[in-house]
Amino acid sequence: MSDSVMHRDANGDTPKYVAPELSYLLDRIVNVCFIGAPGAADRGWTLIDCGLPGSASRIRRAAARLFGEESRPAAIVLTHGHFDHIGAVHTLAHEWDVPVYAHELELPYLTGQSSYPPPDPLVGGGAMSLMSVLFPKRPIDLGRHAHELPADGSVPGAPGWRWIPTPGHSPGHISLLRDSDRTVVAGDAFTTTKQESLIAALTQRAEIHGPPMYFTPDWDRARASLKHLADYAPTAAITGHGPPLRGERLQDGLRYLSTHFDVAARPAHGRYRDHAAITDGSGVVDVPPPQVSTRTVLLAGLAIGAAIAVASSIGRRDEDEERRADEIARLSSTASDDDAHDAADGNGAGARAGDVSLLAQTLNESVSEIDAR
Ligand SMILES: [Zn+2]
Ligand SMILES: [Zn+2]
Repeated sequence: MSDSVMHRDANGDTPKYVAPELSYLLDRIVNVCFIGAPGAADRGWTLIDCGLPGSASRIRRAAARLFGEESRPAAIVLTHGHFDHIGAVHTLAHEWDVPVYAHELELPYLTGQSSYPPPDPLVGGGAMSLMSVLFPKRPIDLGRHAHELPADGSVPGAPGWRWIPTPGHSPGHISLLRDSDRTVVAGDAFTTTKQESLIAALTQRAEIHGPPMYFTPDWDRARASLKHLADYAPTAAITGHGPPLRGERLQDGLRYLSTHFDVAARPAHGRYRDHAAITDGSGVVDVPPPQVSTRTVLLAGLAIGAAIAVASSIGRRDEDEERRADEIARLSSTASDDDAHDAADGNGAGARAGDVSLLAQTLNESVSEIDAR
């Protein structure tokens, strides 16, 4: 069976093994990992990341299968705090009464202090990128459950593992390493499916890629982090998106991506390509201005209507996000039919200037609304 087919299987309630004492569950488009021996005692294992909103009961059922009905983790560790990795964290932290650990530079987004830098929907060329304007980016507040990862590099509840900073995709992004067999939990420092493409994200086709383009605001740091992981030459890796990979395929893929990072991973254009978002211990300090061209906005308008339905199934939480989605859906439904013909004829750009400027305005408003922190 191919990696992707076996991986989609992990979308049930039964976790799949990546390596001994490391298993994972695929939650629609994102992976949730479990570190611990089968049947580990109560407080004897660690959960890495928490999926999309609505995944708490699946994660609980998977944990019960792995570790026993009443078994609670010692800790939840977050590779980073993007919405697709923290969906169930509130519910699980509360129900299990368990600490949630993240890097200190990620804590502003987990303790209500700062929104993430706005996504760049116009990089990567896929519907997932376009949909990223609809993704929640407001901070959550874990309150007393939020903790800074231990400074000595240890991973709470997971002896034999250590965490390293792998920033770039997010300011306090981390990866987890097990030196005894060079196994890696990489979060979104790299991915093993083309996450910008909705089709690939849903079919989870196996390919090594850089971090998801639309959500990565610092490409120089992302490159250094990827090099660090490539140099480690992992024997097995599970990322936030895509199937686990092993052996030469993984190592060769990482080496290639590391040496060709600026052409293979860094977007060819876009808001953060040459200018990173500036962040510090309090969150976002400054971001480069959005870049919106008429042609890209036309393409965005065509794709975004179809993307709305998927975006809502992936989950939005706050009312502002829903209002923005409704506005864009309304506007794109007035523009999409004729524009589709124009695009098929190859002369779409500029053909319906009124609709295009309306969409451009909407997208700009979305972007500036996201900017308003
Ligand atoms: Zn992410
Ligand atoms: Zn992700």
